[in-house]
Amino acid sequence: MNLKDMREDFYDKVSTAIAKQYDTIVIEDLNVQGMMQNHHIAKSLSDVSFYSFKQKLLYKAEKYGKNIIEIGRFDPSSKICSRCGNIKHDLKLSDRIYHCDVCGLTIDRDHNASKNIRKIGLIKVGSVRSELTPVEIATSGLYGIYPYRQMSVVEAGSSDALAER
Ligand SMILES: [Zn+2]
Repeated sequence: MNLKDMREDFYDKVSTAIAKQYDTIVIEDLNVQGMMQNHHIAKSLSDVSFYSFKQKLLYKAEKYGKNIIEIGRFDPSSKICSRCGNIKHDLKLSDRIYHCDVCGLTIDRDHNASKNIRKIGLIKVGSVRSELTPVEIATSGLYGIYPYRQMSVVEAGSSDALAER
């Protein structure tokens, strides 16, 4: 098996494991295009074929009937302290450890971001379910909630669609 096949195989296994284990998966819509223009990280990004992994994850989530929530790329998931909400404006890409000057949290950068991504994703789902009608959802700029079938069947005032979940 060549390197590319091994990678695809690995992505297959990981995406299947995630989709089987979790009912709701929140991912960040990374600005891959913009990152490719940043030559410092372009290589590692293309190496890991983020796009390919995401496509597999979407496919597996659909297959196993799970929700994927995609949050916007402008939500500053890396800079927010996942414990106290402080925003660290001077966080650099090279800072692999996130240290919060306000509450003292010290945590792996990606772990901190993932906690924020989960939080933002669940807030978005909550607001979709509780406050907005389908028309408002369509025009609100909330996007990337896959699969849409669960959201699109929810009519204003209808609890039947939610009860099916
Ligand atoms: Zn903090």
